[in-house]
Amino acid sequence: MVVFTYKITVKGTVQGVGFRPFIYALSERYLVTGTVTNNSQGVEIILNADTLTLKQFLTAIEYEYPPLALIEEVSYSQLPYKPFNQFKIIQTENLGDITVNIPPDMSICAECETELFDPTNRRYGYPFITCTHCGVRYSIIYDLPYDRVNTSMKSFKMCKACEAEYTNPLDRRYHAQPIGCWECGPTLELMNNVGQVVPLNSTNEIDKIVVLLKEGNIVAIKGVGGYHLMCDATNEEAIQKLRDRKQRLTKPFAIMVKNISMAREWATINEKEEALLTSKERPIVLLQSVRVGTTKGSACGAPQPTGIAPNISRIGLFLPYTPLHLLILKKLNRPLVATSANVTDEPICTNLEDLEKLQGVYDYVLEHNRDIVNGCDDSVVMIVKEQHIILRRARGYAPVSIKLPFELKHNVLALGANQKSTVAIGFKNQVILSPHIGDLNSIGSMEYFKQNIENLKRIYKFEPEMVVYDKHPQYESSKYAKSLSLEKIEVQHHYAHILGVMAEKQIRGKVFGVAFDGTGYGDDGKLWGGEFMVCDYDGYERIAYLNYFKLLGGAKAIKEPRRVALSLLFDLYGENVLTLENQTTQAFSLTELKTYFIAWEKGLNAPESSSVGRLFDAVASLLGICQVMSFEGESGMMMEELYDSSVVGYYSFVYENGKIDFLPMIKEMLDENNTTIAISKFFHTLVEMIVVVYAPYDLPLVLSGGVFQNRVLLGLVLERFPEAILSNAIPPNDGGIALGQLVANSDIYTR
Ligand SMILES: [Zn+2]
Ligand SMILES: [Zn+2]
Repeated sequence: MVVFTYKITVKGTVQGVGFRPFIYALSERYLVTGTVTNNSQGVEIILNADTLTLKQFLTAIEYEYPPLALIEEVSYSQLPYKPFNQFKIIQTENLGDITVNIPPDMSICAECETELFDPTNRRYGYPFITCTHCGVRYSIIYDLPYDRVNTSMKSFKMCKACEAEYTNPLDRRYHAQPIGCWECGPTLELMNNVGQVVPLNSTNEIDKIVVLLKEGNIVAIKGVGGYHLMCDATNEEAIQKLRDRKQRLTKPFAIMVKNISMAREWATINEKEEALLTSKERPIVLLQSVRVGTTKGSACGAPQPTGIAPNISRIGLFLPYTPLHLLILKKLNRPLVATSANVTDEPICTNLEDLEKLQGVYDYVLEHNRDIVNGCDDSVVMIVKEQHIILRRARGYAPVSIKLPFELKHNVLALGANQKSTVAIGFKNQVILSPHIGDLNSIGSMEYFKQNIENLKRIYKFEPEMVVYDKHPQYESSKYAKSLSLEKIEVQHHYAHILGVMAEKQIRGKVFGVAFDGTGYGDDGKLWGGEFMVCDYDGYERIAYLNYFKLLGGAKAIKEPRRVALSLLFDLYGENVLTLENQTTQAFSLTELKTYFIAWEKGLNAPESSSVGRLFDAVASLLGICQVMSFEGESGMMMEELYDSSVVGYYSFVYENGKIDFLPMIKEMLDENNTTIAISKFFHTLVEMIVVVYAPYDLPLVLSGGVFQNRVLLGLVLERFPEAILSNAIPPNDGGIALGQLVANSDIYTR
């Protein structure tokens, strides 16, 4: 056989995931000589092989790649013949443009877990055990290429034993950058709430923490992308203490459970949900609780403490994803409330200095000395009708690149919206989305926002030529965009929502987009959010929308469903509302009613809106379910609880000249004396609106916007339109906006 020299290039997530040792092992199997190296493009292999062996080698790459790798492209070319004596892994080089992906932080792998609990293993009980197939990545990276010197592990000098593993191409820890052991790696430290080290006497940190948790203490535990506040999830008092101290009234808490069988004691879990819970990403999965709604609890155990998710039967569960969490949960053998440690409206705390702002909330801190470079929250996912819906895209998923169906002409920076902010950078046919940043309502979160932009720029050696941002003049992200000396493009909020789905799904042609949302700034300066549009990458046509209604008190109306409902009552009955007796009017004093009537009549501080999100709120108020919300989305969640699938029919509405008049529905709803029927028919009416408006169009149906986080509504729409397209890799809420913005102007790409 004639041997030639070939160059194979592999692009995708191929660094820091054991790709080079995998290639090395293949070279031994196929008895070929040459080299393998990481570069900024991915992995490059030079190979001396005959044509048949080359084919086998390529097939093996395609089918056998390591668990954390993600291959986007494999290409090869023939080079002039060059002899090699052996196969060698060579030093990392840095070659110009960075197109390689950073691997996200992954949960502990099965092999490391076995070693963790094996008393004969030298890393027995070591809370930072890891290997090439698992553990932290993104959260510890300062820079690419992904090498130990470019991570927060650089300050830990490997011991002889670790180094031997690190340098052996056939070892599971070959070039695993974060490895360490009892001898040389990061260590734990237990502190009280004023930063003093707690004496351990004859016990260790894990055993001590377990005792403290059992006693009902609140402990801040440093994890992968930040700290969690944790307490015993079976201890009603401890949970209430956490709520009181954090001033978090009713917003549900996520629960970390020991394993899948403990998860089953709390929720019904189908096959898809189990796969998600145990996946290497280990997100928080929203599930149906089995312990709510009965005072006795289920056959599985006691009732769920009400403090976990008051009045809501959905529960967010997740499994331990680090060796540290595993050690604690195994010993404790109880579920833990696990909520991100952050000050309201601020990003997750990533160091002790940040955490001090929460002094008074926690009783103890379990600290470790591996720095968190890039903060990252837990991801939140749910399954609706077999579809994977990501509500918060962070740990395990971020930063993952998304391939576009075309090439961008320029380097583009997209700044997203204002709530659930994410930012994105785009170059060539690649987009890198930051993890969830949060709401841009504080100085702290704006700093975190800018830091995320800087991180992406630094790591990907990216210089933007253009900035795209939301049309809303009051968004902090828009203000920031205007401060940059770059070419600027404003993008309408709901258009960006639909474009985000199109980009993720690589759709090229026109679509019919339905954006049901909270509020977003419209082209006419009104607050849109019940939008039907035909779009492609060149632009969009607004086909229909909900008739405008007034949001009494502007931003206040977003938190107070009663204000929106009152406005609809004024639309229906004018001044007569002042003498009406119903759930909404009872939530106001007569003086308030009079004041708001004047505001409504004169349009004072009463911006007009077409938002479906606000319509949900109005319905919740009119039916007496929720007058003032204590967290975003509360009214919708409470309405999910009351939906009854056995109810049929929908209410009246009028669709004329591109406007949907829904006031007939409100009128009929007020005459309904059964709340469950009213709510169920309300959901059906929304579906019917889509049916009617979409009917004349022969285009793919695309759904986006925060309202589609509502499990009941989304389920009903998918039942009616099983072929509807929605995003699975980016959130339907404003977390998906940045991706849409990036592709929003045809001038920025060549077809
Ligand atoms: Zn491992
Ligand atoms: Zn070591």
